[in-house]
Amino acid sequence: MSSPYTHAQIVEILQAPQAEWLKQKAEQACIREKGKGIFLRGIIEFSSYCTCNCLYCGLRCANRQAGRYRLQPQDILQQALAIAATGIGTVVLQSGEDPDYPAEDIAHLVQAIKDRADIAVVLSLGEREPWEYALWRSAGADRYLIRHETADADLFAQLHPGKSLQQRLDAQRVLKSLGSELGTGFIVGLPGQTAATLAADVLLVREMGADMCGIGPFVPQAQTPLAGLPAGNIELTLRLIALLRLTCPNINLPATTALATLEPEHGQKLALQAGANVIMPNFTPEEAGGQYAIYDHKFAVDLELAIETASQAGRYILWDGALKND
Ligand code: SF4
Repeated sequence: MSSPYTHAQIVEILQAPQAEWLKQKAEQACIREKGKGIFLRGIIEFSSYCTCNCLYCGLRCANRQAGRYRLQPQDILQQALAIAATGIGTVVLQSGEDPDYPAEDIAHLVQAIKDRADIAVVLSLGEREPWEYALWRSAGADRYLIRHETADADLFAQLHPGKSLQQRLDAQRVLKSLGSELGTGFIVGLPGQTAATLAADVLLVREMGADMCGIGPFVPQAQTPLAGLPAGNIELTLRLIALLRLTCPNINLPATTALATLEPEHGQKLALQAGANVIMPNFTPEEAGGQYAIYDHKFAVDLELAIETASQAGRYILWDGALKND
C-alpha cells in the first residue's frame, strides 16, 4: 500500500503556517490503532564510552571533557530487575559504541534478565558486527534501536565521520533479518536539513518497516563542533510525530527526552497529543546518569513524571512487566 502522503504533501504540511488538524488527526489515529495506553520503556545507560565522533554528541570520542563510566553486568541486572518489579514491560540497555564491553557479557546479561523477569529487552549499542547482533538475538534480545539520524546520505557522512548512511541501513537490514524488532529515529534541526530531507525521513521509516521511531529535536552540546547552533524546532518535531503516526499507523512513537529537554513543562504531553504512545523513564543509577551527556541539560524523565505526563494527556500507563517466581 502506498503512503497516505506523498513527499510533496509532507513538505507542504511541514511548511504550512499551522497544522493543528494534523496533530488532532494523529492523536485520534493513535488511540484507534494502539488504544489509550502508554507503553513505558525503562532505560539504563550503562556505558558512556564511545569510539565514534558524531559531530552533535557530547559522548564523541574527541570530547576529552566527557565523563566516562561503564557499569558492571551485575549492576545492570539489578537495575533491570528493579524496572521489571515496577511493572514496566520493557528495559532498554543503551551505551555508546563501546567494543570494550564484550559481546559475550552482553549476551549473558540479556539471558539473565530474560531468565528472571517477564520483560522485553531492547539493546541500543550502535553499529556492531552481524555476529554480535545474532548472538544477542539468540540470547533473547527482543529489539534493537539504531537510529538512521537523517535520510540525507551527504549530511549523514558529514555528521558521522567514517560512517555512511548505507552502512547504517545495512545494519538495520541485518537486524530485521534476524527477526529482531527494529527501532529507528532521526534528529530535527540539523544544519543543512530541509523540509525535503525530513519528508524523506518519514518515507524512509515507512519503507524500512520500523517498529519504533524516536523523533527528537537537535539539542546543542557545549563541547561539540555544533555547540553554537540553535536547537531544533518543537512544532516541526510534533508535526513529524503526527505524520509518522498517520503514515505508519501501528508504529510505536516515543515522546522523546530531547523534547522534554527543550520544553520541560509540556514537551512530552504535546507529543502524546500528536500521536506518540511511549515514554522512556530513565533508570540509570544516579552516580552515573549525569555523565551520559549526549546533549546539554538533558531532562531527567523519571517514572513518577512519566505517569503524570500520561495522565495530563488523558491517557494511562500499560503495566505489562513482572519478575518471574523463583
Ligand atoms: S551519537 Fe551515539 S555513536 Fe555517536 S558519538 Fe554519541 S554515543 Fe557515540
